[in-house]
Amino acid sequence: MVEEDGMDLEEEEEEDYRSESRRKASTVFSVIASVLSGFLGNWACFKVSEMLNVPSQAFPAAGSQQRVAPAGQSRNKVVLKPGHSLLDWIRLTKSGQDLTGLRGRLIEVTEDELKKHNTKKDCWTCIRGMVYNLSAYMDFHPGGEEELMRAAGIDSTDLFDEVHRWVNYESMLKECLVGRMAVKPSPALQGLSAPPSLRPEPLSAPLPAKDHRPRYDWFQTDGTVNIVVYTKRKIPSAGCAVVDLQDDNLRVEMLLGRMSYLLYWRLSSRVQDHVDVQTAHSVGKVQLCLRKSVKEKWTQLGQSLEHHDTFIQCKDRGLFYRECVLLSKTDVTHNTQLLRLQLPPGSRMQVPVGRHVYLKTSVQGTDVVKPYTAVDQMLIPPSQSSAEVGSDIHLMIKVYPDGVLTPHIANLPIGASLSVGGPEGSLTLRVLRDVTHLYMLAAGTGFTPMARLIRLALQEFTVIRKMKLMFFNRQERDILWQSQLDELCTKEERFEVQHVLSEPADSWTGRRGRIDACMLQNFLERPENSKCLVCVCGPAGFTESAVQLVRQLDFSEEELHVFQA
Ligand code: NAP
Repeated sequence: MVEEDGMDLEEEEEEDYRSESRRKASTVFSVIASVLSGFLGNWACFKVSEMLNVPSQAFPAAGSQQRVAPAGQSRNKVVLKPGHSLLDWIRLTKSGQDLTGLRGRLIEVTEDELKKHNTKKDCWTCIRGMVYNLSAYMDFHPGGEEELMRAAGIDSTDLFDEVHRWVNYESMLKECLVGRMAVKPSPALQGLSAPPSLRPEPLSAPLPAKDHRPRYDWFQTDGTVNIVVYTKRKIPSAGCAVVDLQDDNLRVEMLLGRMSYLLYWRLSSRVQDHVDVQTAHSVGKVQLCLRKSVKEKWTQLGQSLEHHDTFIQCKDRGLFYRECVLLSKTDVTHNTQLLRLQLPPGSRMQVPVGRHVYLKTSVQGTDVVKPYTAVDQMLIPPSQSSAEVGSDIHLMIKVYPDGVLTPHIANLPIGASLSVGGPEGSLTLRVLRDVTHLYMLAAGTGFTPMARLIRLALQEFTVIRKMKLMFFNRQERDILWQSQLDELCTKEERFEVQHVLSEPADSWTGRRGRIDACMLQNFLERPENSKCLVCVCGPAGFTESAVQLVRQLDFSEEELHVFQA
């Protein structure tokens, strides 16, 4: 049944890419043609509201990279001038000021016209066929002016996807909307051509013999409908299934390394709103059981919805949101809380290790979205925590008094609802294969992805002989889960933690300062016959320094994993 059980993970991922390209090659023209017909059809009744509702994830740009940058490609954040926070930007967009210079008029923009607007004071860019004037946003961009100017006068869809495709730019930039890219005639598509971001990718290699795509089957009893997904690879204990039953729509996403397999139906008949998910990890099988509202025979499972039965890279899959309920908030430190969120009854989510989810909330009418890495309830839970069942999620959130989203979250009462999207992220367990020495360099809340990694490594990767965390914080009171880390150190010979404080009290006897070469030289040992992996996460500046220092110590790109959001 599971032919590829035990298949080499690297081969598997390469194969996934090839399969994906083949599928794209065979479908891309028909998809583009159908979208273009809709695109042009709508053009006649071109209204702002419709324009802002662009199906943003339908056409990830061909060359777009993972949002979470590969090792070393960290992004800078600049210090914004006073009065240029996100909240200030939201205020400006609500002020009625003309931010496009077109007094609310929406225009059709040609490629030649777009190219002309390439200066700081007159900066237009195109994202997924829509053109925005970014000039007013220049000083508000957390990545700085230079970064934003990379998008000036061009179609920046790829660039945007590469850096932060999760940002709700339609909402953030709605007052900057200039109009749509003009569609220019092309003989290739019956006289029509797609805007640059919708262009097909080149055709790729022919079909190889083996099919590594997951597949599914279903069967029913009098009272239940059962869907079985054969992922054709082993599933880690943290799971891979994300299930959302909303009204009669059932969405099932399998997160398999860098790939995502989606099943999506409008069910034939009503079911109760609880979904039972069972995973047979070693054989790669996930079985869902739904209870019929009425005991009757179904002639079919349902009607396929958008992107049903597609197997594509996770980064190219649209984010799906569900409303969760805040169940509890526990103080972790003086400014960091552990939130427990309950998924709706029809949802089950097993967030793979190192992945994050998105919290979305509306601040003064503008959607604000931020990523948060899922953690467990504790570093090493004594028994199975409820999160493993996939009915709730734990997030560790540091409250920044001048932040937009975190003070809002901190003030939410228990029982409040929060929109949760994802999960997403770049960590695939392939990077841990054969690793004997796992090093983690974490600063502040950059510890969160490490927390689950430590647990996973201890429980499932027996080949790892040593796991060392160097944890950078300002003061001792900022150290997350300090007592749990210390406890783990005493219990687990393989685990070691070193704390470094940048603003220690005089009484602190441990290490002091910021990350430097000297600290890492001794910490990152490379014993004979070892295979090392260094994971880095923290503020952008920290990450950048850490990556540089690790490289200087001759660690290769394969030996480095950077968590970035
Ligand atoms: P923080 O308290 O501001 O800083 C933690 C430590 O990092 C401090 O000791 C600080 O030293 C040091 N540090 C800061 N900038 C540095 C630099 N440029 N070079 C060297 N050391 C530096 O950290 P935080 O507020 O918790 O922020 C954590 C960051 O991690 C956030 O930016 C968050 O987005 C990121 N994060 C990312 C992910 C992910 O990508 N998956 C997950 C979680 C968190 P000083 O006191 O000298 O500044």
